[in-house]
Formats: sequence, structure tokens, C-alpha cells
Amino acid sequence: MNKQTAEKIIHWYEENKRELPWRDTGDPYAVWVSEIMLQQTRIEAVREKYMMFMKELPDIPSLASCDPDKLMRLWEGLGYYSRARNLQKCAQVLVQKYDGKLPDTYEELLSLPGIGAYTAGAIASAAFSRPVPAVDGNVLRVLARVHGIEEDIRDEKTVNRIRELLLPVYTEDIEYGSFNQGLMELGETVCLPRGACHCDICPLHTECIACHDRSYDRIPYRSKLKPRRIEERTLLVIQAGNRFLVRQRPHTGLLAGLWEFPSLSGFRSENEVIQALEKDGMHTLKIRTLPEAVHIFTHLEWHMHAYEVQIRDPGTLPAHTGMYNKRQLRELALPSAFRVYTDYYDLR
Ligand code: SF4
Repeated sequence: MNKQTAEKIIHWYEENKRELPWRDTGDPYAVWVSEIMLQQTRIEAVREKYMMFMKELPDIPSLASCDPDKLMRLWEGLGYYSRARNLQKCAQVLVQKYDGKLPDTYEELLSLPGIGAYTAGAIASAAFSRPVPAVDGNVLRVLARVHGIEEDIRDEKTVNRIRELLLPVYTEDIEYGSFNQGLMELGETVCLPRGACHCDICPLHTECIACHDRSYDRIPYRSKLKPRRIEERTLLVIQAGNRFLVRQRPHTGLLAGLWEFPSLSGFRSENEVIQALEKDGMHTLKIRTLPEAVHIFTHLEWHMHAYEVQIRDPGTLPAHTGMYNKRQLRELALPSAFRVYTDYYDLR
């Protein structure tokens, strides 16, 4: 790519960019938080969460010292909770080593926990005007189409090839932040996935190979992922009076440290549930079926059958397990995997 093309993108971006709360703030912390939230999450879902997050945790020291349960609540609905935990870990490193500020070079940013090549590039270019690329899925799509690259973009070699095509632009005297953001914005609003591109309003249509050949429905080519593993679970919404039994998940692995309704593996009948609870010293007074639910993680699907079970007061409970009323439960971080049930009981 050359300077002339880069300037077309910058000009288009300045004319067409969407108003987003983290844009043009000049605040590296705002760029960082928004970039982490936007990973694997749509802009519409992020907008409101971002506003709330920045109101509660307006700077790096407040994020570093935030109570982990509060942090999980602020992240609720965005999924991929390890992102929030890494965000806080990184904020703590920044307080200890960088005086509570983000460093201004790509290399230092990349050395921080939870900041990969894309995020380091996005922060360095948007907040500190550094000449480095920020290549995400949107940028890959636009560039693969413009250059007619038909190789698999899941392959690291293809990604490197596309990245190298971009590099000459960063030796030119241009606005690097606007250029990177313009490429991403083009991918998000004009050069859409699955052939749904609006070439007629694209600033690159005169030089784009995929537009010329009408090959945009097969570019970019992405090989298929392995199918997700399906895990069948029977979820138990156990109640004693107006209190619900929940337990905290282990501090490592999937949904680490978050709270959940207990569950049994596989789909279980009412009798099997009653017997399993009896073994744990819980006597069932009443049981009824709840709606089914499916939650999709990156490599895994939970297919959930569920029961509401009324029990006698269970007495002493195991560690990391507790009985809470609705008001207390709303203070705990129950992940969106259980949204069907948290909505059902008005626990959000
Ligand atoms: S001309 Fe069409 S295919 Fe090419 S980058 Fe623009 S929108 Fe995408």
C-alpha cells in the first residue's frame, strides 16, 4: 500500500467515522479499555457497558484497586471474563512500574499482560501517534480483498504477508492513528463480511482487485474451525425460602472465580436430581422443570436442562458455596451463560 491510498482512507475516515464515546478522547486508558471490550463483542453491546465502566473506574489506579466482584459485575454481559481479569492485572503492573500510566511505545505496551500485537498497535497509533499497524479481522478482510489474496487468513503466513503489504505506509508522513482506525472502520461499515460489501461507496473501489473481479464473496478465505464440544448439564436452581444456593467456580479455567448455580453432568430426571441432593444432605420439598438454555463459548457449547428445587434449610454448606437472597445475588457476578435463569428470577 502507498501513501496516496493511505490518504484516501484517512480522508474517508475523517468524513465518515461514527461517533463513539472512546473516540477522539486522546486518553490512552479509554482506547485501551474500549479495545479490550471490543474483542469478540459488538459495538452496540459495548457502548453502554463502556460508559458505566469509565464512570465507575475512570483511571488506571481505580481499575487496579477495584474489588474483583465489582469488576466482574461491571463486565457482566460482555463475556470472556478473563479479559477483565487481565485488564486489572495489567493496571496493577502499570501502577507498580509505570506510575499508573500506559507506556507510549509499541514494544513496552506489548510486554504488558493481556496486551497482544493488535491492541498494542491500536493504543500506540491512536493514543500516541506511533507508526505501527493494528491488524484485526476487519483490516485483514479489507486488505485481502484490495490485494486479491485468496490464501487462508487463519494461516499465520497469510497474516504476515498482509501485514508486510501495509508496512511501507508507516514510513510516510501521515496520521497513523486515523489511518489504522480508518481501515478498521471501512471493514466494520463498508467492506462487510460474506460478500456484503458496499463497493459503490468505498474509497478503494478503483484499486480493489476483489471489487474488480467480483471475488469479494470468496475473499477472505477462512478454513473451517473444528466443531465445538457439546457439554450437556442439568442446572439446579436450589431455593430455601427466599434464598438461592450458588457456588463460586475455581479461580482458574472457564469462568474462573465467577458464581454459578450448581449443576450435574448430563441430562438428569427429577428422581436422579432428588437422589443426588439427598446424598449431599439436602432434602427436596418440591421440584419443577425450568426452560432449557444453550450457551456458546469459543470451543464449547453448554446445553442446559434445569430444575427449580425447593429444599429445607441446608445447614452448613461446603466452602465457596452460599445461600443468598435476590438483592445479594445481584451483587455477585453471575455470568451471562446463565442469563436465561438470571432473567427468569429477575437477578440482574
Ligand atoms: S472496493 Fe469493495 S471489496 Fe474492495 S475494499 Fe472496498 S468494499 Fe471491500
